[in-house]
Parts: sequence; structure tokens; C-alpha cells
Amino acid sequence: MCQEVNRDCSCGKEKVSFHLRDNIMSQEVIDRLFCPSCSGTVALEQESMVEDNGWVIEYDMDLARMYAIAKLGVEPDQVHPGFVFDEGYVTWREMYPGETKDIADERKRIISMKEKNPQEYLTTINAWAVERIARLKAEGWRKAKRA
Ligand SMILES: [Zn+2]
Repeated sequence: MCQEVNRDCSCGKEKVSFHLRDNIMSQEVIDRLFCPSCSGTVALEQESMVEDNGWVIEYDMDLARMYAIAKLGVEPDQVHPGFVFDEGYVTWREMYPGETKDIADERKRIISMKEKNPQEYLTTINAWAVERIARLKAEGWRKAKRA
């Protein structure tokens, strides 16, 4: 079971869903969230923040460390913001914020060719899935790079 958590960014423009793997940590670990519009207002703090293509999550690292030590049995110095994000303990629910909407828009374009040319549609939708991941990796999204 994994819990879904929504948070607004600091400027209030964006709302993002988080995924908390195995409920090891709680949503209180998310201190602040900055979208690409508001992340420029904060200095990146390596000790408590993780950056993903213009998005910044600030974690309560004392709390994250407490959960990691108690429930995962890891050493305190292993628990850094990259660990919390990349191992999925407090991370985006999607590959990146806004992915679901982007996918819906892209699919709509491809699905419009389904009636006219079913064979081309199949080829296109398969190629699209592969190209998407390659594109997200190239754009540097942390979760895509590990996919
Ligand atoms: Zn914002």
C-alpha cells in the first residue's frame, strides 16, 4: 500500500501529488515545495533540498532520518535528500509533475488517427511510449533517468 499526498507549491500556482513508498515516511517530511516559477526565490540547500528540472522539494531531514533509521535500519549518513527522493520514499506520484495531463494531450492527438489508419495508430502509439521515456531522460527528470 502506498499513500497519495497532495501539496501546493510555495507560490500556490501548482499542486503536486506525491508518492510515499511503503508508507515508510509521512507527508510531514515534505517541508516546502517550489515549482519552476517560485524555485528561483530560494537558494538550493544541498542538506535539505532535492532539485528536479526546476522543481525543488525541501524535506524535514531530521524527520526523514528518524523514519529511515527506525524503519529501514540504514545509517544516518546515508539519508540525504537524494535518497529520500530517488528511492521513492517521498517522490512525485507521476514521472514528473503534470505528466498525467501531458499524456492525455499527447494520446488524444494519436488516438485521433485510430479510425482512419488502425495500423499506423498501433505503430505510432508504441513508438510514442518508447520515445516519451527517452525524451524525459534527455530532459533530465530524475525518475526518468532511473527508469
Ligand atoms: Zn510555485
